Amino acid sequence: DRQKNIRNFSIIAHIDHGKSTLADRLIEKTGMLTEREMDSQVLDSMALEKERGITIKLKAVRLVHERDGEEYILNLIDTPGHVDFNYEVSRSLAACEGALLVVDSTQGVEAQTLANVYLAMDQDLEMVPVINKIDLPSARVDEVKKEIEDIVALDTEHAPLISAKNGVGIDDVLDAIIDEIPAPTGDANAPLKALIFDSIYDSYRGVVCYVRIFDGKVKAGDRIKMWATEKEFEVVEVGVNANGSIPLKELSAGDVGYITASIKNVKEARVGDTIYDPANPPKEALPGYKKVVPMVYSGIYPAEGESYTDVRDALEKLQVNDAALVFDAETSVALGFGFRCGFLGLLHMEIIQERLEREFDLDIITTAPSVIYRVHTVDGKMEEIQNPSNLPDPTAIEYMEEPFVRAEIMSPTDYVGTIMELCQERRGRYISMDYLEETRVVITYELPLNEVIYDFFDALKSKTRGYASYDYELIGYEQGDLVKMDILINGELVDAFSLIVHKEKAYERGRKICERLTGVIPRHQFAVPIQAAIGSKIIARETIRAVRKDVLAKCYGGDISRKRKLLEKQKEGKKRMRSIGNVEVPQEAFLAVLKYD
Ligand code: GDP
Ligand code: MG
Repeated sequence: DRQKNIRNFSIIAHIDHGKSTLADRLIEKTGMLTEREMDSQVLDSMALEKERGITIKLKAVRLVHERDGEEYILNLIDTPGHVDFNYEVSRSLAACEGALLVVDSTQGVEAQTLANVYLAMDQDLEMVPVINKIDLPSARVDEVKKEIEDIVALDTEHAPLISAKNGVGIDDVLDAIIDEIPAPTGDANAPLKALIFDSIYDSYRGVVCYVRIFDGKVKAGDRIKMWATEKEFEVVEVGVNANGSIPLKELSAGDVGYITASIKNVKEARVGDTIYDPANPPKEALPGYKKVVPMVYSGIYPAEGESYTDVRDALEKLQVNDAALVFDAETSVALGFGFRCGFLGLLHMEIIQERLEREFDLDIITTAPSVIYRVHTVDGKMEEIQNPSNLPDPTAIEYMEEPFVRAEIMSPTDYVGTIMELCQERRGRYISMDYLEETRVVITYELPLNEVIYDFFDALKSKTRGYASYDYELIGYEQGDLVKMDILINGELVDAFSLIVHKEKAYERGRKICERLTGVIPRHQFAVPIQAAIGSKIIARETIRAVRKDVLAKCYGGDISRKRKLLEKQKEGKKRMRSIGNVEVPQEAFLAVLKYD
């Protein structure tokens, strides 16, 4: 039974605890193919290099390790490390039998450690604690061991004590993987059942599905079908990821590898879906498939001088790669033609923004993110609204509901007061506080998602000097006293600035936004009033004073180099500006509404 020498595992850790460094060390210490595979024609078709720094973004990498004359295949499956991608994390873990839980011995257990542990527990994974960074003088090995036992309830007696950086203790980790993580136990003779735990688009091969085979076998030429999307394909190639892709004859129960099948879009091979043999359909799919739904929406518009079609083409290209990105055309009175985009969370939104700018060299304007509100109208209907501009007339609204999350914040006890204040400020509802140890607590709050997406994380980090960490999950919808707030610039309503706020916070929010806009919109030849309004009622007002004539005159009267500098500066400033009426508004202004204080 070849499965008895296979181990499928992930490494889970709080950020910076050393997950990538440990993965690098494991790769250095191991080979890529078993002896039997080396004999096959596989070797001829590719140049193998021993040098394997993880520059490739690895989804799953295969390690071959020999111990006492036996060869083991250790499949290391990568998990994304952020709350935005929790579902992806859980699917990656579902492909494994076990996980290494890496804990930095100078830091101890943190929020993301715990969040990942819960996900691993949901998948019934065997967890192996690994204590890292023992080379550092501030390492608190015994305390951290005790923390792991108390908080995570894992036995740490045999936990490898390692320095991933210096390569100390890596053999112990390999032993622990082999000895403590169970081998897979699928049925290679049963009909095919494989889990897609990741999929990427590759311009040469189309979509590459990263899969874990639970039952059966798959090889080139086989017909396969996807459970959720009901799409059928013919397999072009199967293989494993070692140093690049290594094609193999077949994958069978217990294996982790890839399948290509001329699939054109990642939407047709979604994370969590089950691949099966259409001639032998299983009674049910592998558990846990969930259509990923965006939680945060924002408008993306071409900045002045950029073309709408360029932005659309770029979004389409990104979508081929990223099944979680959704977009639709929308128009804004202020910004013209653009797109309403849906994201998993703020990080996802930032990634897309950055990719549009870096990879496609586009200047874009992003409007303030919004969550999805449920608007119940007087005629008894319910509408989901993610663009404040689409809100029905206030008189037609019976009530509105907003999404809530449960946030678990882990912090040293020193910051408890600060954190509670912050959560309270964001309309949080206190749930509990649990001591992990004498000096550390987990504080649980329920908060409106709307309040969390506005720089909550930044505020938490800065108020706790980086010591607190947090994780959140959506828990449902609740009725809230919500209103639409508009912003007027020079008397003109700018729809791209409109946002939905809690009534109690409207005045303060309105005042802050006006103040902030005053700071980022340049002075013009005339005074520019900035106002916040609810309906026809103005709730806050600021004015950007006019540029004094003599200042301008002085500048222009100056020497030539100074004049050029000024012109260049103006040109730079022109980038990402939008004219609203006769007021020039820079890109930052659209993000200014995002910041809280
Ligand atoms: P990840 O975010 O969990 O993937 O963490 P990385 O592997 O990127 O490591 C974060 C930082 O910790 C990097 O600067 C590493 O060089 C450092 N690091 C990782 N392992 C060790 C270790 O054993 N000792 C020391 N001193 N530093 C380490
Ligand atoms: Mg890393």
